[in-house]
Amino acid sequence: MTAVSTAQAADATGDDPLSQARRRRTFAVISHPDAGKSTLTEALALHAEVISAAGAVHGKGGRKGVTSDWMDMERERGISVTSAVLQFSYRDQVINLLDTPGHGDFSEDTYRVLAAVDAAVMLLDAAKGLEPQTLKLFDVCRDRGVPVLTFVNKWDRPGREPLELLDEVEQTIGLRPMPITWPVGIAGDLHGLVERADGTMHRFTRAAHGASRATVEVLDPETAAAEEGPDWERATEELALLDEIGAGYDEEAFQAGTATPVMFGSALSNIGVARLLDALVELAPPPGPRPDQKGDPRPVDAPFSGLVFKVQASMDKSHRDRVAFVRVCSGRFERGMVLTHDATGRPFATKYAQAMFGRDRSTIEEAFPGDIVGLVNATALRPGDTLWAEEPVTFPTIPSFAPEHFAVCRVADMSKTKQFRKGVEQLDSEGVIQVLSSDLRGDQAPVLAAVGPLQFEVVSARLADEFGAPVKLDRLDYQLARATDAAGAEALKGAVGIEVLTRRLDGQLLALFPHKWRLQAVAQNNPDLLLAPLVADA
Ligand code: GDP
Repeated sequence: MTAVSTAQAADATGDDPLSQARRRRTFAVISHPDAGKSTLTEALALHAEVISAAGAVHGKGGRKGVTSDWMDMERERGISVTSAVLQFSYRDQVINLLDTPGHGDFSEDTYRVLAAVDAAVMLLDAAKGLEPQTLKLFDVCRDRGVPVLTFVNKWDRPGREPLELLDEVEQTIGLRPMPITWPVGIAGDLHGLVERADGTMHRFTRAAHGASRATVEVLDPETAAAEEGPDWERATEELALLDEIGAGYDEEAFQAGTATPVMFGSALSNIGVARLLDALVELAPPPGPRPDQKGDPRPVDAPFSGLVFKVQASMDKSHRDRVAFVRVCSGRFERGMVLTHDATGRPFATKYAQAMFGRDRSTIEEAFPGDIVGLVNATALRPGDTLWAEEPVTFPTIPSFAPEHFAVCRVADMSKTKQFRKGVEQLDSEGVIQVLSSDLRGDQAPVLAAVGPLQFEVVSARLADEFGAPVKLDRLDYQLARATDAAGAEALKGAVGIEVLTRRLDGQLLALFPHKWRLQAVAQNNPDLLLAPLVADA
């Protein structure tokens, strides 16, 4: 058994989209590299008994894992460049876990993934607390109104005080922590977790990494007090303090994104992982009505609609094709149905619908709100596009991240100009990189705009390998971009150190600046000039 087929999982309840939507939890893990996302993903899957049965799907460092690693570059660096979707069942629910790229350079991709989830798990390293990438990703969740659960990881080794970590979450990102478990024993000496709702202690016997679940022994408070002594005392004192400051569970605040349920554990020792799954099932929201472009919600039981949140090519050398990942927003998806591609009004046949699991693919026959469907050879689909059946709907497009790195891209061998053009166009439409151009620079030397410099490496590797067009990249001195209009472009013509280019995909004019001081000076001297920040600008 690999991922559970939705048809199989449908046995337990009604087969209508509404009942099926209620059983689904679709989420992603946001964290800083090394906080333990891959380890946690494996541990989650282990509890749901997906991975153990699925056999080895190679992850980082050659160990068993669920991270997709399709490029040699990715393997060498041990980072996950692409996203995979993992579906498994737990307590009669269907869980869709969307992998997000771990490297900061790929936050644009992560942004798109976060457009397709109903909740996020913020994973913190107990010794490090909030790290830069976590902060950035959290901001995206806040922007999108995605409710966040927090898992404090690595409690099996020395780390910070739990109260101090919670305080940091509250002070730094203004998210009110609502612990639902509490550690007995300091970081590095974890005995178990107090279940805050009923005061019991869940005591663990450590499980080796990759072994089956940690054994759990449930102790009532009296027994825990007698057997755990000072550690128990300390935990209950801290909990009393939390009760005093009113850190109790507040569902509304969680759903509104102003408070976060917090759990402690260790992904590596498989501690607290089942509790996290329980919390996802019990607390995280199921798929709900999704607002369209005008703000009108599309009910979950309306005819099929879906949002393309990611387009990816050649994940595997044996499958040189292009896959569009679609999040089902309403209705039932059935393979073979003909949908309308909202952006072009053209019909889209879904004969090749697949479930993606790391490198494995299997044909998907049916899917419900919250599920992710991979559509193969979807050349016309772009991130942010809507697909629908019967009743038209247009979901808001997914905004692009503000680029901070720019480079001119030229083909190294002029005889490969055609391949070069095709490749650049392809990578642009996949959203791997933003492509900017201007009359001045011409078609042969587009400017590539990236959130992180590693994106340039992906582009040159793919242009060379997939399209047979090796390129030369010359970095430009710009550091930030602002959206402007024709009047702005005219006014900025000839301004020293500034350049206005057109983003090819949507025709947006972007003014590029070498640094923020230059931007400030221009804005001050020309108050009427349109210089709008792009989404997710720091
Ligand atoms: P990612 O970059 O967030 O995917 O992090 P990984 O899952 O690759 O973990 C980074 C490192 O932290 C690895 O060496 C893991 O074995 C280790 N790690 C992950 N979770 C835990 C944990 O709960 N306890 C300890 N001690 N180490 C952990």
